[in-house]
This record gives sequence, C-alpha cells and structure tokens, in this order.
Amino acid sequence: MPTPTAFFRGRFVPLEQANINIMTHAFNYGTAVFEGVRGNWNDDEGELFLFKVREHIQRIRQSAKIMRMSLKYSDDEILETIHDLVKQNGYREDVYIRPMVYKSSEMVGVRMHNLEDDFLVYVTPFGAYLDPEAGARCMTSSWRRVDDTSIPARAKVNGLYVNNAMAKTEAQLNGFDEAIMLNHDGHVSEGSGENIVMIRRGVLVTPPASDNILEGITLETALEIAQREFGLRVERRSIDRSELYIADEIFMTGTAAHVTPVVELDRVPVGDGSPGVVSKQIQEFYFKAITGRLPQYREWLMPVYRGAKVTAS
Ligand code: PMP
Repeated sequence: MPTPTAFFRGRFVPLEQANINIMTHAFNYGTAVFEGVRGNWNDDEGELFLFKVREHIQRIRQSAKIMRMSLKYSDDEILETIHDLVKQNGYREDVYIRPMVYKSSEMVGVRMHNLEDDFLVYVTPFGAYLDPEAGARCMTSSWRRVDDTSIPARAKVNGLYVNNAMAKTEAQLNGFDEAIMLNHDGHVSEGSGENIVMIRRGVLVTPPASDNILEGITLETALEIAQREFGLRVERRSIDRSELYIADEIFMTGTAAHVTPVVELDRVPVGDGSPGVVSKQIQEFYFKAITGRLPQYREWLMPVYRGAKVTAS
C-alpha cells in the first residue's frame, strides 16, 4: 500500500506532514467549509468510482461564497486534484474524500474578512456509516437545527457541525443510531448527516431547501431514481414530527449514509418496523448506479484507475 498522501498548501504531501498550526483561524473559529465525496469500489471491475464530483465541487464553491471565502482553483483543477489524490493513494475499497476551503491565517480575531483562504483534500477508507440493510433507529433530537439566520445550513460550514454533533451524540448515547432535527418552528429538518424522505400514500415527501437543510446530492439522486425508474411523485413541503410517526416509509440519504431506511422513530415503528419496500427498491437501484453497474447512470461517475480525468461530468 502506498504511503497515504493529502493535497495541502498547493501540493501532494505525505498525510502525516499535512498539519496545521494551532493558531490557524479555521481551527480556532470553525471558519472553513467542506465536502464529503464518495469513492465506491466495484470489485468485479477492479475500479473505484467517484460519485458526482462536479456537484460536490459546485457545492463547496457555493458554501465558500456564502462564507466570503475565495477558492483559488478552477473546477477542473479541483477535479483533477481529487482524481490524482485518490489514484495515488491506491485504495481498493470504498473511500471518503474530504475537500476543504479554510481560513488559513494564523492569527486571533473573530471575523470572515481580511484573512487568507487555502484549500486541502484528503482521502480515507470509509465503509458503511449507518446500516443500510437493517435500517436506522432514530430519535427526534432535543437540539434544534441551526437556522439560516444564525449559520446557514445550506453551506457545509465546519463550525456549524457542532449542532449536528450534539444531536448525533445525544441520539447515540440514548441507544439510537441517528438523530432527526427539527427547525425552530418545529418542522422536520434533517439528520445529523442525512436528508430525510417520507413516503405517504405513494408520494415521496421531503422538506424544502428553506427548512434549514443541506441541499443533498444523494437526495437529488434518490428522487431522480424514484421518479425516472419507479414513476413516483415527489413533493417538497414542510413535514410535521407527528407525520413521520404515521408515514408508510422513511429513508435517509447522504454521501456517508447512502440510502438508509428508517425503521423506528422515537420507539415508534415506521410502517411495520422493517425497511420499507419502496425505500429498498430505491436503495438497490442507487447502489447499482454508484458502483457503475447501470450504464445509463455512468455519467454520474468518474473512474479513478482507468483515469477518465477531467472529462467526467
Ligand atoms: N445533511 C447534512 C447535515 C449532511 O452533513 C449531509 C452530508 N453531506 C447531508 C444532509 C447529505 O448530503 P449529501 O447527500 O450531498 O451528502
């Protein structure tokens, strides 16, 4: 196995040398934005497929814009950096790639302006986050989702993830797998690292972008599959907590969590308490697509080892 490397301060270096100074602004104040990109291993083909990299690059650019940060590389440069980094690390298993734009100035001072920005990427092996087979047992968090008027949840801001971490820890220490957070107005927002979809009367319902969610890439993928492959209708509207208790099915979507059915919420079984039939169908399709097993969705993927580089869309 090659020595793990990272892209740091403009070049590839051994991961153990990719260290920041303790005075770094981003470390002190959470002033950074990040992405999580999946590489999904296909053993039959001996290939690692990066999923929707351009969409992730677009989203980190948007996060950076909201945070008044500058990203000094073009989309193609970032794509190539991610591709080259993953390739040189040589993993033959599922990976998670973490690009980040961060306030790199080494100085004290709470602000966003007049500070230097830098960009880094690392990659790490990463298996299942939740259990996609068994499904997730969730609790409604007592922590409310941070509001757009405080820190915008549509930007993947490092410091904002304290909100998510509080909810996740509360859920896990109480014996659940994942938290579902409500907005300040009491409507369902999202999981600590996942969007939420409820199925009622055959319609997929998910909160609108204005309900303090991250505009999820896996969510859009799952909804597209549901519409195109299964002819299902999608509705984006606010969801009440009590509606989730009577949903026919619930599933969560996320780069780490993939498509994971929710089987229980606040100890109330979702449906009959086993993974929903429609959720499983979408999940199965999604897994085939992200591992390159569906030719019609290959455009979502960028193969690492046969080196399609910047041509992937
Ligand atoms: N919401 C939050 C809070 C997340 O951290 C994530 C993971 N990035 C998601 C939703 C899902 O987004 P995506 O499918 O783009 O990974």
